[in-house]
Amino acid sequence: MDVNVANYERIVFFTGAGMSAESGVPTYRGAGGIWKEYDYLTYACQDAFDRDPSAVWDFHNYRRELVGQCQPNLGHKLIAACEKNYPAMTIVTQNIDGLHQLAGSNSVIELHGSLWRVRDERIGVRKTTRDSPFDAQQSNGSFWRPDIVWFGDMLDEAVLSDAVRVISNCDLFVSIGTSAVVYPAAQLPLLAKDAGALCIEINPEETPLSSLYDLTLRTAASTALEQLCS
Ligand code: NAD
Repeated sequence: MDVNVANYERIVFFTGAGMSAESGVPTYRGAGGIWKEYDYLTYACQDAFDRDPSAVWDFHNYRRELVGQCQPNLGHKLIAACEKNYPAMTIVTQNIDGLHQLAGSNSVIELHGSLWRVRDERIGVRKTTRDSPFDAQQSNGSFWRPDIVWFGDMLDEAVLSDAVRVISNCDLFVSIGTSAVVYPAAQLPLLAKDAGALCIEINPEETPLSSLYDLTLRTAASTALEQLCS
């Protein structure tokens, strides 16, 4: 099947950790996955933060340092270029690395928050900072919390409903580099299918959702995007 984004109007790129693999950002699962080295119960859940915010911040500052050295890859750039030609294009990402925005994309729904945002729930404040390391302890002794959806957290309702709205209305849905095992994000492709969109999966490996797709491209993100966006 020969597909080109030029033949579609309402395009959704649904991206996961594999989108940023070519930029050098480690995925969570698979070869080199970060959870092989770090136990998320110690570093990436609310209980861990309540117990030992400094340890959680050591891990997140380590991630800031690693990701801060990474640049958008060709795939991020091709998607950003697409946005200029197709205003009704949206990126729904599970990534927290901010690389789509760094590549120049504006229309980005971040399902799982951002490594570059912090929040203080007591005073209802969020802020963006690329400080690395970020000094998370405030003068009153309390800690800023990474504005990330950790294991066990609910997704932000407004963010999820934005994602549901655009996916339910798209005519082309392109899933890129997600293992399709993290819920509720993994259910979102079903909405595109129900909407009658053409559904494409880009992933070198098969996933639990592969059979849903009209077309599967078993190759790296940038290679497949060169094919779709040229
Ligand atoms: P995952 O780690 O579970 O799966 C990554 C998927 O990407 C795998 O299926 C793998 O086969 C595929 N992949 C690897 N290299 C690829 C490439 N070059 N091109 C295309 N696909 C490739 O990631 P997930 O499904 O996104 O779920 C993990 C959760 O952890 C999500 O919330 C995710 O955003 C988060 N996470 C984010 C980052 C990031 O911000 N870059 C990194 C790691 C994990």
